[in-house]
Amino acid sequence: MRLKLPPKVVRIIQVLQAHGYEAFAVGGCVRDMILGREPDDWDITTSARPRQVKELFARTVDTGLAHGTVTVLLGEDSYEVTTYRIDGRYEDHRHPAQVEFSARLAEDLRRRDFTINAMAYNREQGLVDLFGGMGDLQKKRVCCVGDARERFREDALRILRAVRFSAQLGFSIEAHTQEALGELAGDLAYVSAERIQVELVKLLVSAHPGSILQVFEAGIAGVILPEMDESVLGPGDLEDIAASLGRVPPEKTLRLALLLHPLGEQKSGKLLRRLRFDNHTVDTVRRLVRWYGHPLGGTPAEVRRAAACVGGELFPKVLQIQGTYRDVSQTRAVWEGILERKECISLKTMRITGDDLIRLGMEPGRAVGDLLRELFQDVLEEPGHNKKEYLLECAKRRAAQ
Ligand code: ATP
Ligand code: MG
Repeated sequence: MRLKLPPKVVRIIQVLQAHGYEAFAVGGCVRDMILGREPDDWDITTSARPRQVKELFARTVDTGLAHGTVTVLLGEDSYEVTTYRIDGRYEDHRHPAQVEFSARLAEDLRRRDFTINAMAYNREQGLVDLFGGMGDLQKKRVCCVGDARERFREDALRILRAVRFSAQLGFSIEAHTQEALGELAGDLAYVSAERIQVELVKLLVSAHPGSILQVFEAGIAGVILPEMDESVLGPGDLEDIAASLGRVPPEKTLRLALLLHPLGEQKSGKLLRRLRFDNHTVDTVRRLVRWYGHPLGGTPAEVRRAAACVGGELFPKVLQIQGTYRDVSQTRAVWEGILERKECISLKTMRITGDDLIRLGMEPGRAVGDLLRELFQDVLEEPGHNKKEYLLECAKRRAAQ
């Protein structure tokens, strides 16, 4: 089988080979190339030790020397080059007690999670497929390398990864892998929130986000999303949520908000924080959850008021969210008109500022803000009033009162 590697990947492999080492593209990029998908990143596996890799390339980063990973920088691009590795005994269900470098590709492929992720490729040797990865790609299924129970016991994150890959690729999960996954789902409790977050997001923004149902059915949700239990979910709610995810673009905050909305704003925020999401994501999802079921109105003034509360940058997302359960075409048309006419929906774009009011003789302080907000309410009602002269006139009149 002949696959097309990017020139820089070919170059790295050739440099390593020219110095007597073996080197292959490996893992996700090989899988994606065979499937005709654009790989996210290109990983290279080699018999060279990290020190030796560093000697051969001018610009490198010590990404994880202990695990054998050196990042090679070529122009704007970066590639992870990792030494063939045997993972030692897993004692805590998440990482090996120690890793051992190896001279054999087969050993490096054996430690990988799924057969479809355990293939290597270079131009000289072609595809190296020791565990039936190609067959499983053809059968469209996710199957552990070796004994599924053992592999999930070693690193419980693989349980969630199995569902994530099935969601990304639209694959089924092989029967033994499926059985082991349900049996050992509880072990996900040993895995760090950061790693769970990565896989959960990849699943949600995948082509088949409805696979979130499997996360619940397999008992994974009980561990990673315990807040989402019968106390907040009624019969059929999960199915509705799963179906709604595909009705918005594959964007993290939209899909998280659809998933978590039954929890309400506060509990959603707590859950996201526990999974170590960044502040911006937590804040955005919280606001989307808050506005999930909030009426937005249909008249221009109503929509301007709603958009002023939501915030102009978030309003299109609220429309997308509400569009999963109702017809928002009327509201959307009104919103587009507001944008087209560049109507003011934020204090920041009012044609009068606090400084203007102070220049009129107001004392700096709360009264200035109060008056600005009062003028803003007027502008929201009547966008034509957003003119400096008019607003100054109003302000003078109010100040005189
Ligand atoms: P993506 O397209 O999401 O990057 P990927 O297959 O490249 O998918 P990564 O998480 O980037 O997945 O991991 C790269 C490779 O490393 C995998 O293809 C797999 O061979 C191996 N791998 C990653 N995580 C594990 C794990 N927890 N256990 C065993 N092997 C793993
Ligand atoms: Mg990858």
